[in-house]
Amino acid sequence: MTESNPARPAHHAAPDARVDTARYDYDVAIVGAGPTGLALAGWLARRGGTRALRVALIDSREPDASLGDPRALALSHGSRMLLEPLGWPVEATPIERIHVSQRGYFGRTVIERNEHGVPALGYVVRYGMLVHALATAVRATGCDWIGSSVARAPQQDEHGVSLPIEPVGTPSVPDGDAGAAAPQRIVRARLVVNAEGGVYHEAASTRLAAGQHARRDYRQTALVAVVSVSTPQPRVAWERFTREGPLALLPLGGPRQADYALVWCCDPAQAARRMPLSDARWLDELQWAFGDRMGRFEKVGARAAFPLGLNALTALTDRRIASIGNAAQTLHPVAGQGLNLGLRDVHALVDALAHHGPEPAALRAFAARRALDRRVTITATDVLARAFTVDFAPLAALRGLALGALDLVPPVKTTLARQMMFGQRR
Ligand SMILES: Cc1cc2nc3c(=O)[nH]c(=O)nc-3n(C[C@H](O)[C@H](O)[C@H](O)COP(=O)(O)OP(=O)(O)OC[C@H]3O[C@@H](n4cnc5c(N)ncnc54)[C@H](O)[C@@H]3O)c2cc1C
Repeated sequence: MTESNPARPAHHAAPDARVDTARYDYDVAIVGAGPTGLALAGWLARRGGTRALRVALIDSREPDASLGDPRALALSHGSRMLLEPLGWPVEATPIERIHVSQRGYFGRTVIERNEHGVPALGYVVRYGMLVHALATAVRATGCDWIGSSVARAPQQDEHGVSLPIEPVGTPSVPDGDAGAAAPQRIVRARLVVNAEGGVYHEAASTRLAAGQHARRDYRQTALVAVVSVSTPQPRVAWERFTREGPLALLPLGGPRQADYALVWCCDPAQAARRMPLSDARWLDELQWAFGDRMGRFEKVGARAAFPLGLNALTALTDRRIASIGNAAQTLHPVAGQGLNLGLRDVHALVDALAHHGPEPAALRAFAARRALDRRVTITATDVLARAFTVDFAPLAALRGLALGALDLVPPVKTTLARQMMFGQRR
């Protein structure tokens, strides 16, 4: 993330005099009020002043529905800087040390906060609490919040986009079935931002992102739950590579600082077998997979499963439509990069809109600025997700050497840590 402030005064190009802007309900319609859509709406509202853009936020679910989402997210220091002025959950747990190792083989590395001159390497927040905090802030800005979903593919013309939406609960109408009766409404906007999140499944499609995707099925499922341990190490996060996939434990605080958010990436058949196990059996298997570095696993809360894959759009923009966050790239959760990368999309788009106004030039500038960071982060995540699951002893030895070498070559470790915290700047 660059360190420039996206709230700086707008100096975008004068609007094209030939465009009758009154024909458009909004300058920007954002589809999806997840963390990236909310952060974008929040920053556009903060920019404010007489040149404030007219913004709509469209989502099919109420923000408080996210409170039941079991995910906890590790957000970088850079992400915190972007979110804090908008809405930041009180219960954010700082990470001061990250311990990386592989199960069954030697080699490990430790990344320390004080090696990098930042108050924390990252912060752990619950997905639902973050959405709640951002949504409360965005609602207070007076941004139009529309409780609907996209009904059909949008139509684009020279000056704007017509987006057919329908209220939540309306039966879906296939594209092209124009005669079917449905209480639809058309939102007209100069630009549309696709922030509707992503899916890993090959079959799933979205009406807003019709372009080509790079896809990979990792044949892994993430089991997610809050667990408690007997010998906690406060503010330490763990990433342990196992033969089935990476296993992460993120500190959540709680009584005795003993609660951790678990992301356990397993073979899908093993994940399906583990989901219904009794708590005691589940904790035993987790103990076997993680080891005893934090004593005994004592308790597990509600569990959820997420199938994992890579799904990245080849082109971020299609004339007057841009994609950000998971809608642009859905990644494996290894190293917790997904939302951090998505928030850097937001930052770049806010900057581009400030310079160019709600015109395709803004989207072209946005796409150009995001190319390098996207490529590096998507590739690094993809390699990490696959490299550590190969159970071939010489390769495991090499991985162990590479992890150990990181401790001996500080500049390489610093570069890696900075990529995780800030991404590629340009
Ligand atoms: C197990 C797991 C662990 C993770 N851990 C981390 C981590 O540690 N750090 C990190 O940075 N990232 C992590 N991620 C990734 C992170 O969750 C995502 O990158 C982030 O949620 C993306 O935010 P978003 O706003 O782009 O999309 P989403 O969070 O998916 O939100 C999309 C929104 O769009 C709405 N929507 C969808 N379709 C429509 C439609 N047609 N019309 C209207 N609204 C619609 C949805 O209701 C939703 O509110 C993890 C992911 C998983 C699965």
